[in-house]
Amino acid sequence: MKNIAIAVHGGAGQDSEFIRMNQIAYKAGLVKAVNTGYETLKQGGSALDAVENAVRLMEDNPIFNSARGSALNAKGEVEMDASIMDGSKHSAGAVSIVRNVKNPVTLARFIMENTSHVFISGYGALEIAKENNLELEVDSYFITEHRVDELIKERMDDTDDIKRKRKNGTVGAVALDNAGNIAAATSTGGTSNCLSGRIGDSCIIGAGCFANNSSCAVSGTGDGELLITNVIAHSIAFYMELKNCSVQEACDYVIHQRNKDVEGDIGVIALDAMGNFGISYNSQRMLRAWKMNEEIVTVKIYK
Ligand code: ASP
Repeated sequence: MKNIAIAVHGGAGQDSEFIRMNQIAYKAGLVKAVNTGYETLKQGGSALDAVENAVRLMEDNPIFNSARGSALNAKGEVEMDASIMDGSKHSAGAVSIVRNVKNPVTLARFIMENTSHVFISGYGALEIAKENNLELEVDSYFITEHRVDELIKERMDDTDDIKRKRKNGTVGAVALDNAGNIAAATSTGGTSNCLSGRIGDSCIIGAGCFANNSSCAVSGTGDGELLITNVIAHSIAFYMELKNCSVQEACDYVIHQRNKDVEGDIGVIALDAMGNFGISYNSQRMLRAWKMNEEIVTVKIYK
């Protein structure tokens, strides 16, 4: 049997009481996502199918910061970003500031496969979803009590509009299928109390998502502004290609050496076309799980 493998993450960032209290639910959500993606691969599905299915599951799970359960912006609204990339074709799809779309990752894939564009935002993205009968939900579907509490707390201890504290979360997946192709996908509700219209790294190819069969597939999380300005996902893939090093070495170099002085959280999961994983983060925690071939799932929140 050829190697098949999948890794997922549920966000990197500072530890919180909510995460400590809900460790079992987080781990269960990660394991379910890995197993769903793995089943897709086992049944001959592509890496692209696997990352989409795994991310959809986490988008539907209100405990994660993506789709249902998204962080709320300063106006109390949900604005979602997502992307997907096919490492075999070097094609990608992305959406930003999307509302009411139940699964933004599926919309990103739809854009990749059915339009001549890579990245569509706002009302244009919503129109594509409506015209093509992608599942929609009312605003209240996306808003959870936890995110409302989080926003209220943030508003109380943050009065500066420009420098808002980041409470992070995001979901992502990387997978390898039995044809030897890899793919990555990332989806987020962004950062709590951010300015309306803010776009993070999760929908930016090369920052929070990247895949190329000749190097690796990467999904990122953390302070989106840092992942954008330091072009994290592409840097990992490019470093691997340039140095001919392992995917873990490339992740460690980009997170712990090249960006060791950044003030904020960055985390990545990565996978190469041989089935080797790379996982690095500089934060207190990163929710993550992975599985290769018939091994049992590994799931972790802390170091
Ligand atoms: N990177 C996401 C964003 O900035 C948030 C996160 O991953 O925690 O939108």
